[in-house]
Amino acid sequence: MNEHITKILNGKGLAAKIRMELKGKIAKSGKKPGLGVVLVGVDPASQMYVNFKTQASQEVGMVLESCEFEEDISQKKLLRVIDKLNRNKKIHGILVQLPLPAHINQYEILEAIDPRKDVDGFHPANVGWLSIGKPYFMPATTRGIWTLVKSTPMDVRGKHVVMVGASNIVGKPTAQLFLNHGATVTICHKLTEGLAEHTKRADILITATGVANLITADMVKQGVMVIDAGISKHKGRVVGDVDYETVFEKAAYITPVPGGVGPMTVASLLQNTWLAMCRIEGMIEK
Ligand code: NAD
Repeated sequence: MNEHITKILNGKGLAAKIRMELKGKIAKSGKKPGLGVVLVGVDPASQMYVNFKTQASQEVGMVLESCEFEEDISQKKLLRVIDKLNRNKKIHGILVQLPLPAHINQYEILEAIDPRKDVDGFHPANVGWLSIGKPYFMPATTRGIWTLVKSTPMDVRGKHVVMVGASNIVGKPTAQLFLNHGATVTICHKLTEGLAEHTKRADILITATGVANLITADMVKQGVMVIDAGISKHKGRVVGDVDYETVFEKAAYITPVPGGVGPMTVASLLQNTWLAMCRIEGMIEK
């Protein structure tokens, strides 16, 4: 019999609440936040993520400018698209769906986005603001994870956070944020030796690798909080990085996949877009 009451962190439910609140704020403001979404190519996963973001933004009353291009678009043309969105007064947030095709210099594209409209938080200036502890825009997945953790009684100060996955999109900004808030942070990646030795010491284990069943019950301690941002297909099912059924038994808190971090990422993007509009229009955002 478990001593712990295992709690499922219901990202789907929390995200729905955030969207409802946002919808109310937008309606009350009498203004329409505008989100420009740039999608290059026909990668099915990217298309699916863009569809989720499109639907959710329209549901809360945002205006969406969807910019879709063939795989072979040139760097120059893509830069012109970004420039146009930067100058468009009806657009407050710009999102470039990653990954971009190999011939495109992704960093030059991200750097071209006006940092005040960079709702994904990937512009080097915003990466820098986060790293000095003054985030201007938190990357959406990082913000979603943070909101989920903050919905629990967990105080992260002094806790050991183990981040498995070190990408610029999820792992690094998330590790940075928890460090900023007083956690002791270990970052692991695919070259880390003895992964289990690290994960076993986690009070909060966050994963974003896309490797199904990477984390098994023997790799975590009793009472751990598990935040699984991974998304992959395994035996025809959408799964995370964590072997959910077995790890569930030992966890105090755990996110399901789907229905955990994914919907929180989308809701956080919408929150960032609202925040961008409030700043650009000189409104006070609470
Ligand atoms: P990425 O490929 O850029 O990075 C993956 C990271 O995992 C790398 O740092 C790599 O070193 C590490 N890794 C890979 N195999 C590993 C292993 N065996 N052991 C330890 N570390 C390992 O991917 P990304 O863009 O950061 O995305 C990671 C996962 O998160 C994917 O499944 C992606 O679909 C998912 N994701 C989810 C959301 C969401 O909203 N839930 C948002 C973004 C990404």
